[in-house]
This record gives sequence, C-alpha cells and structure tokens, in this order.
Amino acid sequence: MELACLDLEGVLVPEIWIAFAERTGIEELRATTRDIPDYNVLMKQRLALLDQHNLKIDDIQEVIAMLQPLPGAINFVDWLRERFQVIILSDTFYEFSQPLMRQLKWPTLFCHRLVTDDSGRVVDYKLRQEDPKRASVKALHSLNYRVIAAGDSYNDTTMLSEADVGFLIHAPQNVIDEFPQFKPVADLDELKAAFVAASERNLTL
Ligand SMILES: [Mg+2]
Repeated sequence: MELACLDLEGVLVPEIWIAFAERTGIEELRATTRDIPDYNVLMKQRLALLDQHNLKIDDIQEVIAMLQPLPGAINFVDWLRERFQVIILSDTFYEFSQPLMRQLKWPTLFCHRLVTDDSGRVVDYKLRQEDPKRASVKALHSLNYRVIAAGDSYNDTTMLSEADVGFLIHAPQNVIDEFPQFKPVADLDELKAAFVAASERNLTL
C-alpha cells in the first residue's frame, strides 16, 4: 500500500503568513523563521500583531479566503487523489489554512491549532507534537504504508528522509544543494511524473 504525503505551503498554496501580510499591508507579519529563528518568539510576535490590528479569527479567514492555491495545484491534488491516498503534512494551523483547503476540496491535513477565545481573538497556538512531519511518516510506516513525500523547504527534510522516496519541489537552491539525496523537481507536472516513477504500481500520467 502506498501513500502520498505533501507539504502545503510553497508546494500547493502560497506562504500563508507572507500572503496574509501582503493582503493586510502589515509589513511586520512578513517575518519568518529566517528573521526570528525561535519559532515561539515568532509566533508570539504574530499573535501580538493580530491583536494590535484587532484582527479576529473571522477577519483572518476572510483575508485568507481571497488567496488562491498555486497555479495547477487544484488539478494536481485531484490527479494525485485518484491514484494515492493523500495526506498533507503541514506546519500551518487548521484555522489559517481552512479557506485554502476548501479550494483544494479538503484533502486530509495534519497540522497545528490556533486557540481562540469567545470573541474570536487568537490567544494562543498548539503545536501537535515535536517534529510532526517525521513522526507522521513513522506512524504511517507502522500501519504498513509505503510513503512517497514531497516538500519545498527545511521543515520538510525530516519527513523526506523518513519517507521511502522524497522529492523537493519549488525548493530554493540552498536547500537543493544541502540535501542532494532528495531529487528536486521544478513544478507540479514534474512532480506527477516523479510520483508515477516512484510508485511500485503501474501508474500512468
Ligand atoms: Mg513549505
């Protein structure tokens, strides 16, 4: 039995915080782990900015609903789901990704949660577990699935190494150079062909 595991942001949809920053014009929300390496410090800053701009969960989802999956991503997910059980392994939050997941027709998503109060204010966040992408692939292996995975960045590399076959897609050159064990593909069409080639079944494009 084979499963396909995909990262979400940078693979199927834009980087959500960055796109959200662009839509709202809140420049400081563009900060990523490259600017603030401590993820908890970064998230606290993001939540403080949401508060400062009085953005409640509904406002956030309204803005994110204006975003679209990357070109070809909807068709790609349709194509993949006809051939594989597909699980999206992401470091996003359910509440954040919801409007984009709706456009992708709700494939299974394992990610994290935002905590809101009665007024819809985002008060905290809950990370599901330590190293969640790797842990997920390990768990799927324990269910006797062979896993083919694809992601675009550093936070995917433990998932890719745990998987039976791992691909980089849309990856920056430094990630490609640093992880030569993962075959890089340029776009979703190439990723289709890569999945077909990596499968142990007789799949066609
Ligand atoms: Mg990504």
